Amino acid sequence: MDIKSKIRVIEDFPEKGISFKDITTLIKDGEAFQEVVNRIVDDLKAREVDYIAGPEARGFLLGAAVAYALGIGFIPIRKPGKLPAETVKHEYELEYGNNTLEIHFDAIEKGKKVAIVDDLLATGGTVLSAVKLIESIGGEVVALEFLIELEFLKGRDKLSNYHTNSLVKYD
Ligand code: 5GP
Repeated sequence: MDIKSKIRVIEDFPEKGISFKDITTLIKDGEAFQEVVNRIVDDLKAREVDYIAGPEARGFLLGAAVAYALGIGFIPIRKPGKLPAETVKHEYELEYGNNTLEIHFDAIEKGKKVAIVDDLLATGGTVLSAVKLIESIGGEVVALEFLIELEFLKGRDKLSNYHTNSLVKYD
């Protein structure tokens, strides 16, 4: 299946000059959604992953589906003030603006293997922030999985210490 053809591109969203990759058109298509989840699951099967972690909000859509398919748990990484128990925080720069992410400090038992799933790799700031949060509470990050990679932003260069997989690339 041509997954790329299911992604809608919206120019100048959320700011002028940004060519936004809209995945709502893909996940609305049941077969395409299933294919994307299956392909990520296939890449993770041999890696003995204990948990999937996903950043708010689009990381929840794919990450929870991948976790369910693997029969393992899902750990949310959220914007500030959303998680109810004690958290650790990390601040970083985004392709457009700043962001802070949080994880529950007790979300991952020491040494557990975690794969991060998100919809899109741009500069790599979001996923690196998620990596730092997971490592700071004792988890081991074993894979980074993306539906989309914006290759021209070279986010992958920051991620050379981690297995990084993306299904659709834009250059
Ligand atoms: P990065 O931190 O790698 O620069 O940006 C990636 C994050 O921003 C991801 O969490 C992703 O959801 C969001 N993002 C940035 N640009 C786009 C885009 O064009 N489409 C979608 N769906 N998400 C984007």
